[in-house]
Amino acid sequence: MDDRQFRSAMGKFATGVTVIATELDGDIHGMTANAFMSVSLDPKLVVISIGEKAKILSKIKESRIFTVNILAADQQELSMIFAGQLKEHKEVVFDHLDGKPVLPGAVAQIACEVSAEHIEGDHTLFIGKVTDIHLEDGEPLIFYSGKYRSLTEEKVVTI
Ligand code: FAD
Repeated sequence: MDDRQFRSAMGKFATGVTVIATELDGDIHGMTANAFMSVSLDPKLVVISIGEKAKILSKIKESRIFTVNILAADQQELSMIFAGQLKEHKEVVFDHLDGKPVLPGAVAQIACEVSAEHIEGDHTLFIGKVTDIHLEDGEPLIFYSGKYRSLTEEKVVTI
């Protein structure tokens, strides 16, 4: 099994798109991520997975805080900015939730304190204790098979 086949298989799992953000000494750093999952309801915990080469890794290790901003369908440009996919630098304005940097317009802003970290292979898993949440109405941005998508159709299923 080669890397490409592994990546292709993982890409078959359709996800939302988040921007993870942290703040250290007044500087805000963001990174696009889709490796995000809810872990526990009581206590409220989430997990993110950050690659060993990502600049945000050392910043979260030091700040011990992060936010997960679940992007809206019209925020693809923000995903590209924070994935380093745009050539020119663009200023991005952040708000704060519970003292942590969040992206205005995200369908969900989730503020966290790091409660544990685990190095697994070439990534670090951060478990975040959720300290506050802000929700907005709207459709999410979707990522599937290496492409951005949107939920174009809503189907009501009666069980
Ligand atoms: P940098 O390379 O320093 O930052 C990335 C970009 O964000 C740079 O262009 C920088 O200018 C910009 N930026 C940062 N802060 C600000 C700011 N305050 N204002 C304006 N611009 C700013 N990688 C993972 O490790 N885990 C994942 O789960 C993951 N999921 C991904 C999902 C998708 C859909 C995509 C497209 C990429 C994903 N990546 C993931 C890859 C990751 O987003 C990139 O490798 C990223 O460039 C690494 O970020 P970095 O911390 O090294 O930061």
